[in-house]
Amino acid sequence: MKRKKIVAGNWKMYMDYEEGRALANAVISHLQPSETIVVLGTPYIHLKGISGLIKGVSSLKLAAQNCHQENNGAYTGEVSAPMLKSCGVDYVILGHSERREYFHETDALIARKIDAVMAQGMQPIYCCGERLEVREAGEHEALVSRQVSEALFHLNEEQMRQVVIAYEPVWAIGTGKTASPEQAQEMHRHIRSLIRKQYGDGIAEGLTILYGGSVKPGNAAELFGQPDVDGGLIGGASLKAEDFIAIVESI
Ligand code: PEP
Repeated sequence: MKRKKIVAGNWKMYMDYEEGRALANAVISHLQPSETIVVLGTPYIHLKGISGLIKGVSSLKLAAQNCHQENNGAYTGEVSAPMLKSCGVDYVILGHSERREYFHETDALIARKIDAVMAQGMQPIYCCGERLEVREAGEHEALVSRQVSEALFHLNEEQMRQVVIAYEPVWAIGTGKTASPEQAQEMHRHIRSLIRKQYGDGIAEGLTILYGGSVKPGNAAELFGQPDVDGGLIGGASLKAEDFIAIVESI
């Protein structure tokens, strides 16, 4: 089965409104037609405007970086899945390690956010990955198994087909340390085997699994060349259009 290739940028809390529009326009102007889905994961304030800019560029999609688990209510400062949907959002990044660390998000909470996003017909990009001490203790596969099962295994088969998983070892995010292609492949194969056991071969083979953690133009091709690596979730290097486009073209 031919899996969808995806390269998603995570702008995090960077780019004011004008900078964000300029970056999106630069990506649009450099993007070559291809089958790779390119996703811009922007701060909330950019979503509506950038959705207008990318209309008509069929390979470009829009992602939010979070959403609330409830559809509406007295939750000052929060943004819900129906609100994101109404702004033209296609994907929502959930479970990023920065949200787990600074906002104390648990897999039980992330599972509810995944449900909220899917109920609106958007696709979650579910992030999982171990901290350095977990890898050093040799417990990385067990930890990722737990993250994947707790956040995703309540989904039915139809829902699971819509999920994208991003493996992001925490020790490689924003640190300049990248997992070796072998380390990435080993974990991606493991994640696919978890999905195979739970949902069967067809869904496992169709699942897009992204690698994230200090991906740059210089290391992207080798990472993306691994059989179970179907693209990347890109933080720092997504903030420069030339670097991001070079990464997209490495697939
Ligand atoms: C990320 O934010 O998901 C990420 C992988 O960041 P970086 O590429 O900067 O390591």
